[in-house]
Amino acid sequence: MNIEVLTVESTRTAIREKQFTAGRLVEDFYNKIKAEDPAIHAYLTLCEDRAMQRARRIDDLAGKGDPLPPLAGVPVAIKDVMVTKGLRSTAGSKILENFVPPYDCTAVGRLETAGAIVLGKTNCDEFAMGSSNENSAYGAVRNPRDHSRVPGGSSGGSAAAVAAGTAIAALGSDTGGSIRQPAAFCGVVGLMPTYGRVSRYGLIAFASSLDHIGPLTKTVKDAAIVLRYIAGRDPRDSTSADVPVPDYEQEIEKPVKGLRLGVPKEYFGEGLDAEVRAAVETAIQQLAEDGCEIVPVSLPHTPYAIPTYYVIATAEASSNLARYDGVRYGYRSPRAKTLSEMYRKSRDEGFGAEVKRRIMLGTYALSSGYYDAYYLKAQKVRTLLARDFEQAFSQVDAIVTPTTPTAAFKLGEKADDPLAMYLADIYTVVADLVGIPGISVPCGQTKSGLPIGLQILGKHFDEGTILRLGHAVEHGRALAS
Ligand code: GLN
Repeated sequence: MNIEVLTVESTRTAIREKQFTAGRLVEDFYNKIKAEDPAIHAYLTLCEDRAMQRARRIDDLAGKGDPLPPLAGVPVAIKDVMVTKGLRSTAGSKILENFVPPYDCTAVGRLETAGAIVLGKTNCDEFAMGSSNENSAYGAVRNPRDHSRVPGGSSGGSAAAVAAGTAIAALGSDTGGSIRQPAAFCGVVGLMPTYGRVSRYGLIAFASSLDHIGPLTKTVKDAAIVLRYIAGRDPRDSTSADVPVPDYEQEIEKPVKGLRLGVPKEYFGEGLDAEVRAAVETAIQQLAEDGCEIVPVSLPHTPYAIPTYYVIATAEASSNLARYDGVRYGYRSPRAKTLSEMYRKSRDEGFGAEVKRRIMLGTYALSSGYYDAYYLKAQKVRTLLARDFEQAFSQVDAIVTPTTPTAAFKLGEKADDPLAMYLADIYTVVADLVGIPGISVPCGQTKSGLPIGLQILGKHFDEGTILRLGHAVEHGRALAS
């Protein structure tokens, strides 16, 4: 069986129709992972016994002719910032190297309740801080399309696993672009839902007002399917929204004709690679041919998005990461003689350079005397960015932009230059700051064969429209090829 071509949609049907068993499928996936993942390093931890047990349960149900849950037997991978009961969860950090959580992240639990089978936990930048996956304490991930290049980050392992066909779908997290940017670099679909659409319970916190969980998949339809099962109010996360979850599978089948699409001029300026621009413009043209109305819009505060993001994200991170002190869980330095030394050495030896940089920046921005100048100011600019979008969305149904200014860069290319790395998210961070949903859909490739992503941003809780547009882009490309 060629498992590389399987999608969530085709797998759930195949299991239901008994074309193969869940047990056989899971075994095939582990064989593929063992043969191919050492060259990519998308996985940090595998859970074969747990997966085989669940597969057997599904096969038993199928054998008895009992009804199967909707995602029965679909093998998935989970970014290692989501906690999994009894299964090591590291957040890509040495400080959590041996951390085995006592409970499940809501999104993971919901996927499993729907019948999906977790194959393992995927590599990521430490505490999701990064754009290349080179900040993982366990080593970099390679882009399956070109091993000399990064897969993007911070959900690089999840994107690479889906692109390499070592998982059918994966969950990632997006704080400033970490689902959409690696999706674009690896040539897969990445969806960041509206803030509050998916519970953050059990997501190891980076910046709580910006963190989102969402799917990485091979097709837009698969993203629609996965979102449906992870979304919805969760009493364990007070920021999760009590908003009805539509049937996204039906939503994507609606025609795009008549939709108004905003094209913000600020996203097509300096720094945008010519091949990326051409591919994105072709996709927009195709949507126009499908009957969308193209409307030029302006998002005037765009130049302030990156500085605003890095003040707010680091401030929240410095507070969230205070819990790793060697006392409660995680790494404790064996070299400390006093309590104060235990805190200091545990954190010094447990955290990597980028995480320390951010804790220092965030602590500085929050310190008395600087709070008003940095943190408060950034929150005010965040409001202005939200107003830009309110204004634009009074004229259009969705906004289209490139996902990233360039295609995947080389390993090491930006590793010593944090500012250059931060700019990799220049088109993605705003959606996180404003809390609106965004999707990255493959829309072409460079001459050297590197994938290019189209980003579609939507109104709050209107994932249906961006999925529908993404589906149309995918369909158009399939017809063209
Ligand atoms: N690259 C951004 C950062 O380093 C975004 C990370 C993310 O979305 N988790 O903060």
